[in-house]
Amino acid sequence: MPLVKIFFIDIYRKNMSFRIGFGVDFHQLVTERELWIGGVKIPHSKGSLGHSDADVLLHAICDAMLGAACLGDIGVHFPDTSSEFKNIDSKILLKKSWDLISDAGYKIVNIDSTLCLELPKVKPYIPQIQQVIATVLAIKISDISIKATTTEKMGFIGREEGLAAYATVLLESK
Ligand SMILES: [Zn+2]
Repeated sequence: MPLVKIFFIDIYRKNMSFRIGFGVDFHQLVTERELWIGGVKIPHSKGSLGHSDADVLLHAICDAMLGAACLGDIGVHFPDTSSEFKNIDSKILLKKSWDLISDAGYKIVNIDSTLCLELPKVKPYIPQIQQVIATVLAIKISDISIKATTTEKMGFIGREEGLAAYATVLLESK
C-alpha cells in the first residue's frame, strides 16, 4: 500500500469516531395539562404529566444524545427534585444536553425516533417538530427522523393513559 494512503487511513482512524445512543421515555396523559411533543404544543383533551413540560420526545432524544457520549441521562443532569427544572421548557433541556455532548467533543450525525401514542394523531405536526429540533440542535431537518405509531389499542398507551417515545442518535467526534 502506498505510504500516502496509509497516512490518510491513519488520520481517518484517529479523527473519526462514531458513537450510537438510545433513549426511551414515558409519561402519563392526564387532564388539565398541556401536551408538548417535540417542542410543539399539540391541542388535545389531555396532556403529559411530569416535573418539566413532560415532553416525551425531547426527553428520549436527550437521553439518546447523552447515552451516546456516555454522559448518563437527563435525570442525572436535570433532576426532577430540583425547583430549577419545574415546568421547564424541554427545548432548554435539549439545548443543555447538546452543550454537554458538544463540550465532550461530539456533534450529531442523525436522529431517528418513534412516538407511541393512541391519540391525538401527530403526523400533521411532524414537520413543525422537525423544524423546532433542527433549530435547537443546529442540524438539518433531513437528519431528524420522527415516526409515530400506536399499540393497536393495547396496554396503557392503547387506553390513552400514557405515551412513549424512543430515540436513537448517532454522534461523530468533531
Ligand atoms: Zn420525560
